[in-house]
Amino acid sequence: MDFNSHADAIVRVAVGLVNELTPGERRGRAFPPPRDLVSAAAEGLRAGYPNHREVTEGEAGELVEIAARLRGVFDAVATGDIDAAVLQVNGLLEETRARPLLDRHDGEPWHLHFHGPGGTMAGDWAASCATGLAIVLGSEFHDRLGVCTAPHCDRVYVDVSRNGTRRFCGTACQNRVKTAAFRARGRVP
Ligand SMILES: [Zn+2]
Repeated sequence: MDFNSHADAIVRVAVGLVNELTPGERRGRAFPPPRDLVSAAAEGLRAGYPNHREVTEGEAGELVEIAARLRGVFDAVATGDIDAAVLQVNGLLEETRARPLLDRHDGEPWHLHFHGPGGTMAGDWAASCATGLAIVLGSEFHDRLGVCTAPHCDRVYVDVSRNGTRRFCGTACQNRVKTAAFRARGRVP
């Protein structure tokens, strides 16, 4: 499934920012707020844009706030409350006044960028992520945003599988749950 390759990359950025910048739990362990926000923010952006430039401390701070807002959208979809998710995304679209603009750089073909009001990198990402999530929520794949269902993990994901049966943030959590199920049946692999 491919919403549109650029929208896809934007949604991966939203997932990356939530997973790198919002505290909670990850793969069975506590996930405290990152000590090195600058690296964590860059890593989040590179989940969708592998060559994204480094970020400044100020930008990282802004991205932390954006990530917290984005998490709310994933949480709402995961609990089946699409209406609440839509309300939050519409709020972000209004606040950022997401504005589309065709752009071409780094040898890429023309593609849509979304700009925010202040002309800042973090503001542009807030507008972009809001738009990317809006495209998902406005499609037949509106329930494809999720929060890992493994114990002690609240990292998020976007399910791009054909049949939409993804339940975990990654193979590590999937294997953790599988192993626990085997043990519960007395068949330790
Ligand atoms: Zn997980």
